[in-house]
Amino acid sequence: MKIGCHVSIAGGIWNAPKNAADLGCEVFQMFTRSPQGGPAPKIDAEVIKKFKQEMEKWKQQDCYIHAPYYINFASAKEAIRKALVRVIREELERGSLIGAKCVMTHLGSSKDMPRDEALKLVASGVRGVMDGYTGTTEFLLEISAGAGNVIGDTFEELEYIIKNSGGRVGVCLDTAHMFASGYDIKTKEGFDSTTKVLKESIGLEKVKVIHANDSMVGLNERKDRHDHIGDGKIGKGGFESMMKVFPKVDFVLETKHDKIKKDILMLKTVFNGF
Ligand SMILES: [Zn+2]
Ligand SMILES: [Zn+2]
Repeated sequence: MKIGCHVSIAGGIWNAPKNAADLGCEVFQMFTRSPQGGPAPKIDAEVIKKFKQEMEKWKQQDCYIHAPYYINFASAKEAIRKALVRVIREELERGSLIGAKCVMTHLGSSKDMPRDEALKLVASGVRGVMDGYTGTTEFLLEISAGAGNVIGDTFEELEYIIKNSGGRVGVCLDTAHMFASGYDIKTKEGFDSTTKVLKESIGLEKVKVIHANDSMVGLNERKDRHDHIGDGKIGKGGFESMMKVFPKVDFVLETKHDKIKKDILMLKTVFNGF
């Protein structure tokens, strides 16, 4: 396991490895384009070279890419769905160029249609992304906090999408989202039953990265509000339990940078404690 956080790419993606090292990261996550929209800055041979040099200089072996926030594979408009499939495919191709391990995305919202129809569209979008893809960067679906009609808040929905899209994609578990959508990882009994459901649905081996965030909101409150490790409703113990089940999976923080160095240290201490 490596521990790190989401870092800024201000000035260019080649600045990310130093930003990561400065915060004490062993691994990091970034956007490669604006999360709100707009064209993606080019990743040409020079950018790739610069990025790889910086990775080596700052002793970072791996990185992850978070897709932009506007992805909605369940949009009612076909043209939009097609454009979003292209955006994710581009992120996977761009990730492969720089050697990123995975790209994770949020899936969208079913507000325009019944849930089962929305799920079918999401699965078909994911299939479209993977169609003919031969790159090395893996595609991951991120579990959601389940606010409103947001898709992918249960293991069963993620399992459905994986199975109906060709089975080639993995999962990113965000601890804050899981907790907010009703998966107890705080109490021992809760954690055991959550793990059991996970094993019986998606399977532990599909979990490729953990977003390690404490949650400002309580169990099943269905809001996406990240908190610093130990300050939120999950507490340090929940992260220890997660680390025991996923000792080989990287843990990436997405908390505010005011106290993120402390969060990273805290997770490293928890991991080294068992
Ligand atoms: Zn996310
Ligand atoms: Zn996340």
